[in-house]
Amino acid sequence: MTRAVCIALLAASASAALAACAYNEALGRNQLLIVDNGSLVQQSNAAWAEQVRTQNAVTTGAQVDRIRRIGDRLVQAAGLGNRTWEYAVFTNQSPNAFVLPSGQIGVTTGLLSLVQNDDQLAAVIGHEIGHVVAQHAAERTSSSTLTNAALQLGTRVAGDYGQAVGAIGGLGAQYGILLPYSRRDELEADRLGVDYLQGAGWRPSQSVALWRLMAAQRESQVPQFASTHPSDDTRIAALEQYIASRGWS
Ligand SMILES: [Zn+2]
Repeated sequence: MTRAVCIALLAASASAALAACAYNEALGRNQLLIVDNGSLVQQSNAAWAEQVRTQNAVTTGAQVDRIRRIGDRLVQAAGLGNRTWEYAVFTNQSPNAFVLPSGQIGVTTGLLSLVQNDDQLAAVIGHEIGHVVAQHAAERTSSSTLTNAALQLGTRVAGDYGQAVGAIGGLGAQYGILLPYSRRDELEADRLGVDYLQGAGWRPSQSVALWRLMAAQRESQVPQFASTHPSDDTRIAALEQYIASRGWS
């Protein structure tokens, strides 16, 4: 969003609890953020608790330990190590993951079965952390407020990689924290995720390997995410280009 558009939109929003047109250094662009941060965190925490409870997700055990070990290194690399992050594994054979803006990451058993190494799992978690650094949820909520768009009061948690992870009430959806991300958001999160992979000592090229696996896995499935998510080819090409541009491997 250009600064001019940002200012015009701000002028139109008199009732915002908190309004800011801020430059996000990680993204290299301005963001319109009109959201009550305390409410966002509250909604996010409630949505997480509901997910974990209703989906019988596990928050302890060897799988969660593995995710935490990887996640905690990545959040350090992302500069978000100063808050507590929560992790859970959801029993679902569809490879999927999601993040909530107050620092919770859910991963499905299907994803754990799909990945071939820690680098690939780190690629997924790094991507999810990228959404938080990019403040995509707050930004999306802000533009929904401004355009008065009908919020999609989803009844499913939109996993980041296609199908829903689990059922949920409208609580989180009201704040836009559980809606699918846009193509731009996805590509931004991919790029940030690769930065954190490199920073934390994993191989950025394994993000490409991961997406090839995801693409192969999806071939037989209905691409219901296709309208908002970049195609696998698009994101693989973008990732390869970015990794090469940084001289990483
Ligand atoms: Zn994403």
